[in-house]
Amino acid sequence: MASVLRTLHRAGHEAALVGGSVRDLLSGEQPIDWDVATSAVPEQTTALFAGSVWENRFGTVTVPGPPRVEVTTYRSESGYADRRRPAHVRWGRSLRDDLSRRDFTINAIAWVPVDLARRRGLLIDPYDGRRDLRERVLRAVGTPARRFDEDALRMLRAVRFATRFGMRLEPQTEEAIRHLAPTAATLSGERVRDEILRILGSRAAPPSRAFLLMEHLGLLRVLLPELAALRGVPQGKVLPGDALDHSLRAADALPPDDPILRLTGLLHDLGKATTLADCHFIGHERVGADLASVLMHRLRFAQSQVERVTDLVGEHMFAYSPEWTDAAVRRFIRRVGAGRLDDLFALRRADNAASGVAEPAGAGVPQLMARVQRELGGAPLEQRQLAIDGNELMAALDLPPGPDVGRLLAALLEAVLDEPARNRPDELLALARRLLEERPDPRASGARRPRIGVLPET
Ligand code: ATP
Ligand code: MG
Repeated sequence: MASVLRTLHRAGHEAALVGGSVRDLLSGEQPIDWDVATSAVPEQTTALFAGSVWENRFGTVTVPGPPRVEVTTYRSESGYADRRRPAHVRWGRSLRDDLSRRDFTINAIAWVPVDLARRRGLLIDPYDGRRDLRERVLRAVGTPARRFDEDALRMLRAVRFATRFGMRLEPQTEEAIRHLAPTAATLSGERVRDEILRILGSRAAPPSRAFLLMEHLGLLRVLLPELAALRGVPQGKVLPGDALDHSLRAADALPPDDPILRLTGLLHDLGKATTLADCHFIGHERVGADLASVLMHRLRFAQSQVERVTDLVGEHMFAYSPEWTDAAVRRFIRRVGAGRLDDLFALRRADNAASGVAEPAGAGVPQLMARVQRELGGAPLEQRQLAIDGNELMAALDLPPGPDVGRLLAALLEAVLDEPARNRPDELLALARRLLEERPDPRASGARRPRIGVLPET
């Protein structure tokens, strides 16, 4: 980081440490990445650093690390047309200009090096961010309503910083957010997603605090209405509270280094808002999976992330009992997918913790986990583990390629899930022959194409 400042200075530019890195240093934390503000324009900065990339039209140049340094040209934005992004960015003339467009006083402190070798410099703190850091107050720079009106994302950033640093919101800042919360609806899904992920990934505070603050400020029902709808939905759990309290506890109980899993905890009971009848929530896991999918697509999550969350929400109500046969355990593994089992068990643990329920040792889910481990080590669970493959099947039975081959393989796997001992080439071929013979004669029945039925899953 010092070398970046030095290189910029030697080339005749002003350069100072700003933003999160100064704030973190002042509060005794080691910054993860460094922010530098400079008088150099992006073309000049990229020319000075090999491998640096100019990321966007806001003029952020990233100098690869470690540690990574983000260099931004002094700027003074203007013309926020839609509260989403500045319509045009003007390069500012001075560091003070640059600090004035930053969001919160604690993020608007700069450190200007005087003697880099001795790590001596001047703190430029026009908005008294140090006092706010000390007193644990989160305060917008300038007129709060104007700043949130310029960029609605700052309201969500306020929630993140306030919870991360255990700060209270300065009254006018809070008032402005409550007033302008509905305008958060205009934010792009990507920006909201990234903030939510940072909230969920925080080690400093449990995510429930941030979501409760969002609710208090009126942001939750605007950005995550599906979640806000759980407020007041009754829960017959050991722990008190409604379905929203329960969901927040489930998110808290999952690890911060897996924010998507935490998101799964947060969203696992979304379906409860609409399915309550006679003290039961029939089918809420399916409804919830659909709602989670809508929410995550709106926030532009990657398809693989949407699938991970919706699969888990859809399966989270599995009800194990010791009477399950080994075949039932194998079908469970197949339905959930071997790669999702750890997630599903982690979700169940969090769900239990959030309900105040303890699984008995040696029974319940711990027992299922042990049985799953045993099955994973042995019996075939997937088509590719069958003793014959599609090509061998086609050759031996003189079948043309087509959907029937897939159906046959699926039926063979069903048989092998029931009885792993049948997974031998001769046995499977004989079974395939029988299945082909048993199918209805297309001429006799008048059906267009013969179909091979697949045994229903338990
Ligand atoms: P973190 O430690 O989470 O990275 P940060 O404060 O460094 O927090 P960044 O998003 O990395 O946050 O932004 C760096 C700096 O840029 C902030 O400290 C702030 O000064 C400024 N900034 C970022 N986003 C905005 C915004 N939407 N409006 C105004 N200033 C912003
Ligand atoms: Mg940062």
